[in-house]
Order: sequence, then C-alpha cells, then structure tokens
Amino acid sequence: MAESHSHADDKSTRSLSEEKSSLSYHGVYTCPVCRHGQISALPLMDAFACNFCRHIFTADLDKQRVQVVDGSQPLSWRWTGKTWKATHRREDL
Ligand SMILES: [Zn+2]
Repeated sequence: MAESHSHADDKSTRSLSEEKSSLSYHGVYTCPVCRHGQISALPLMDAFACNFCRHIFTADLDKQRVQVVDGSQPLSWRWTGKTWKATHRREDL
C-alpha cells in the first residue's frame, strides 16, 4: 500500500471518555452491537465498521444515527454524545 497517514499521529490517550462528542467520520466509537469493539469510518465510504464483531454501519450524521447494514434486522442507534441509544423502535419511525 502506498497510502500512509501524513499527519502526525495525535496520541490522545484519555480525552475520549468523559467528553461529549458528536458523531463524525473522524471519530471512533464503541460498537453498539457488541459493546466491545470500536467502530470507525471506512475510507471513502459513508459507513463505519467494527473492529471486533465486523458489523458494518451506515451513518446519518445529520440525525446522529447509524444503522447496521449486514444484520438480519435493520437495527439502528442514535448517538447521544456519549453513548448509543437504540432507535429501532416505533417511536422513532
Ligand atoms: Zn462490534
């Protein structure tokens, strides 16, 4: 691979945990499916992938929402700034 990250890596070790952050393709978030891995944006795609359970999510940044695309059900979650809130319920349709 010829690609490499040109920016100096910023090693922010402990700034993630307490601060609220909005959902963006630059961030890394706890996986809402397995709650174990982390999801991060796939290059060149409007999607996130988990590094543990390998689920793929499409993202809607306006609505701060992700939806799993390779699952048997169209589960989705809304990012509250700190955590995921399941939205696969009637109230959100
Ligand atoms: Zn996962």
